[in-house]
Amino acid sequence: MAIIAVMNHQIIIIGGGASALMLASLLPKNSATLLESNAKLGAKILVSGGGKCNITNAKMGTEYYLADANFVSPSLKSFNEKSLLKWLNRHRLEPVIRKGTQYFCKDSSKELLDIFIKGAKKQNIVLQEKVISVNKYDDIFYVKTQKKTYVASTVVVASGGLSFPKLGASDIGYEIAKYFGHSIMQPAPALVGFTVQKEQFFFKELSGVSTEVCIRVGEHECKGALLFTHKGLSGPAILNASLYWKKGKIEIDFLPNFSWNSIKGSKKKLSSLLPLPKRVSKAFLVQLALEDKPYHALTKSEQNRLGMLTHYEFAPAGTFGYGKAEVTKGGVSTAEVDASTMMSQKEDGLYFIGEVLDVTGRLGGYNFQWAFSSAYSCAQSIQKIGQ
Ligand SMILES: Cc1cc2nc3c(=O)[nH]c(=O)nc-3n(C[C@H](O)[C@H](O)[C@H](O)COP(=O)(O)OP(=O)(O)OC[C@H]3O[C@@H](n4cnc5c(N)ncnc54)[C@H](O)[C@@H]3O)c2cc1C
Repeated sequence: MAIIAVMNHQIIIIGGGASALMLASLLPKNSATLLESNAKLGAKILVSGGGKCNITNAKMGTEYYLADANFVSPSLKSFNEKSLLKWLNRHRLEPVIRKGTQYFCKDSSKELLDIFIKGAKKQNIVLQEKVISVNKYDDIFYVKTQKKTYVASTVVVASGGLSFPKLGASDIGYEIAKYFGHSIMQPAPALVGFTVQKEQFFFKELSGVSTEVCIRVGEHECKGALLFTHKGLSGPAILNASLYWKKGKIEIDFLPNFSWNSIKGSKKKLSSLLPLPKRVSKAFLVQLALEDKPYHALTKSEQNRLGMLTHYEFAPAGTFGYGKAEVTKGGVSTAEVDASTMMSQKEDGLYFIGEVLDVTGRLGGYNFQWAFSSAYSCAQSIQKIGQ
């Protein structure tokens, strides 16, 4: 029989990742109980950004999100990248800019995690506590874990998406949302590599080579590096493209910022002329059944075939899956959640923050910024109601 743990804490936070830790840090001392299924807090923060955590980005805006702009805008404005950096500075963290506009921890993600662990310590933290369901009777939430049942007046679902199951991901957020009548937008792996069909198996032979590209997926353009891997395609441009890809074709420009005029008069062979790694140009010449010769020696139809390098179209077979995806797109529909407070419009006292919602950012610190901004909106609302 389940034991009812009657706590002093009226707020239960489900999850101990980025959004939950920010919320726990912002709420007044001893006001919340945080339940995390892992033995440690913030597992994803530690591995993020290549171990240095890409916290946020100097270029911020709704255009960097796959989400309803009207939903994300209020939170991104009330706790924007500048507010976040100020908050971090107050906690003696001075993130450094890398790759143009991206803010990272100076040496290690642990710098950020330590701040959160210190901040969250003022709440009641229960580790290795896996939530299995949430019900509500007579205005009281019953949060059932594998060990006991907690009662609360407020429940914040901060349990993230389905990506990286080895770091604790589960579908509990979606199950709780569905129980309370919310719609779930089809979740799928995102910020993830593409597997390829047999026509593109030659990509695998280029494993380890990287080149600058511009990828078009529907109306979206993703510029940056593409990395050939033994499984298919990866690299920042591909990861961003996966955000917008459902099924069907994508188009890759392997020669962005290039003009054919610049090579017309040259006597050099194509593999030396094209601004591509030699292995890549040679592989494409084989695929396009073209000899490696100077550009001017190509017939008109050969020139047209070569022109495909600027609009190479193919349909990926799929993605590398949740095991490799940095995030999950889709999730709890934002049409049924209040944009200023993150409170459910179906159930008073129930909140959703972070990645569990149908809000997904591009690469570059946008997903952490959303986790922190949504946590801030939720903290403001909970405190207002508690006053
Ligand atoms: C490898 C990798 C690198 C990344 N790098 C970056 C980066 O540099 N910049 C960036 O902006 N984003 C990055 N991301 C994405 C970012 O980590 C997430 O978007 C962000 O952590 C989401 O925060 P969250 O609090 O919503 O969810 P999470 O951080 O995923 O936290 C959810 C927590 O809930 C817990 N949980 C799940 N189910 C249960 C349950 N049933 N009971 C109790 N607890 C449960 C999980 O164990 C987890 O700790 C990266 C992701 C990965 C996987």
